[in-house]
Amino acid sequence: MRIVSLAGGIGGARFLRGLKAAAPDAEITVIGNTGDDITLFGLRVCPDLDTVMYTLGGGINEEQGWGREKETHAVKEELAAYGVEPQWFGLGDRDFATHIVRSQMLEAGYPLSQITEALCARWQPGVRLIPMSDDRCETHVVITDERGKRAIHFQEWWVRMRASVPAESIALVGVDTAKPAPGVLEAIAEADVVILPPSNPVVSVGTILQVPGIRDAVAAKTVVGVSPIIGGAPVRGMADATLAAIGVETSAQAVLELYGRPLLDGWLVAQEDAGVALDGVTVQARPLLMSDPDATRALAGAALDLALDLAR
Ligand code: GDP
Ligand code: CA
Repeated sequence: MRIVSLAGGIGGARFLRGLKAAAPDAEITVIGNTGDDITLFGLRVCPDLDTVMYTLGGGINEEQGWGREKETHAVKEELAAYGVEPQWFGLGDRDFATHIVRSQMLEAGYPLSQITEALCARWQPGVRLIPMSDDRCETHVVITDERGKRAIHFQEWWVRMRASVPAESIALVGVDTAKPAPGVLEAIAEADVVILPPSNPVVSVGTILQVPGIRDAVAAKTVVGVSPIIGGAPVRGMADATLAAIGVETSAQAVLELYGRPLLDGWLVAQEDAGVALDGVTVQARPLLMSDPDATRALAGAALDLALDLAR
């Protein structure tokens, strides 16, 4: 069985761990979001790819959901002692090594997809992890604050401002000329089913779907999504701020309509959202909280079962 999944960071990675447990013999290809990528201190940082790699490879800081376990912060402290900005982005010493290897390989001319494969040779995540594109596209956010109206990098809005200033719009800079990374369209074409984890529908899954060619390729398959919204609120984090920026209500119904037809064939919602409906989409209510490994495996198994049923 071949499964393709589009993933952001924490929500995607946790779901994928459940999917691996639910389908141990499946070949899983993960198309990772690179819209969150940022260059810091001359190093290329790919937070969502790394969150998936560390989570599935057993190196994640479980409590935090991102970054390495047993982390120290000597480099960050030394940079701060020099007064070097930014100081709002948390990079641990172990994590720095990943960004150094990646940046060195980029400098040597390797595409991000090959670099990701090389990093995964160490972590053995048990899935094939491919960035959505080898071309650089970054999510930027338009805000107005005391300095006026301006566009800032998504990470500055998300991490430094904790999305406290409303986003007037969100743009994926560079996407017009971006191509899917080698293997992305092939993996989708060969997939039996595509599963959308409860990743952020705007700045994770929505970003991947904007890369020319990916949305159409996915829509041609049997696709089941899991709602990241339960009872009108994100389960974790600030997805409501990104939905507001594109004029979409924070509800399982509105996210279902945002993905819509022909993209989606099935949609999993929480029990309290059981009334959600859209023509042409099979909606099922299931326990949606990834509270522990068993619950996460059951959720991923339910998404996969529905997808396989609909594919028949
Ligand atoms: P990020 O890149 O680290 O922000 O992570 P993702 O985009 O992959 O996932 C973030 C989304 O995961 C948020 O919108 C949350 O609402 C959602 N999420 C987190 N934990 C859970 C959970 O246990 N169940 C469900 N259904 N959604 C979750
Ligand atoms: Ca992310």
